[in-house]
Amino acid sequence: SKHSSLVLTVEGVDKSFDGFKAINDLNFYLEEGELRTVIGPNGAGKSTFMDLITARTKPDKGKIVFHKSDAENIDLTHVREHKVSQLGIGRKFQNPTVYRSHTVYDNLKLSLAGERGLLHSLFYKESKEDREKIYDVMKTIRLEDSADIMAGALSHGQKQWLEIGMLLAQDPRIMLVDEPAAGMSDEETERTGELLLSLRGKHSLIVIEHDMEFVRQIASRVTVLHQGHVLKEGTFEFVKSDPQVIEVYLGR
Ligand code: ADP
Ligand code: MG
Repeated sequence: SKHSSLVLTVEGVDKSFDGFKAINDLNFYLEEGELRTVIGPNGAGKSTFMDLITARTKPDKGKIVFHKSDAENIDLTHVREHKVSQLGIGRKFQNPTVYRSHTVYDNLKLSLAGERGLLHSLFYKESKEDREKIYDVMKTIRLEDSADIMAGALSHGQKQWLEIGMLLAQDPRIMLVDEPAAGMSDEETERTGELLLSLRGKHSLIVIEHDMEFVRQIASRVTVLHQGHVLKEGTFEFVKSDPQVIEVYLGR
């Protein structure tokens, strides 16, 4: 059935802060392996939406269900934040938070150890499989020649990629990525688009983005949030020419 290919279902979710409805009857469905872009003006509720999926914030009403397998549907509104990442839902915040005084390799190793509950442990002795995995990730994020470089010495773009790599080291089913191209050069932005596109299929991704050129490049299905509600959903070409979308977002 169509339903069995969904990896995430958000139904009828509300969230208010001091009487202000930041999220208002939000409905959202993510297909397994999909790359979805979420756009919307400042204050539309994009970050709150991610906070809700990662159980950082609890909804006032509604359901957020992670379809882990055919037999296992987990209501994320009843799960604690640190458990959500263990379930396979990883989040990358806007500003990269790499360990600046550790190498690229060790950052990835720390992330892998962290997933196993061995937080910040450089004493973690990685297996051959772990090492292969770390090298695979370094290849994916195009830092395979920078294993011994201190993360603090990387460019802004490379730090962002390393942080995406740190998520990848934990094998997430769902990846939430907040403005991955912010502050990047045109070339870095294009590479980031290529990276995210290469993750499709193996992972399901939700990407929050402001840069319309970038949204056009990754050409995924786009969800337009406005006042905590889905205003429009469809291809980039479809939403960008929608009069309501132009009015609230593109035509500012
Ligand atoms: P976006 O990420 O799309 O810019 P946010 O999700 O950050 O939007 O915010 C949506 C609305 O909710 C904004 O009006 C914001 O001021 C409000 N909001 C978000 N978090 C809080 C909070 N913890 N307390 C009070 N208001 C909040
Ligand atoms: Mg935000």
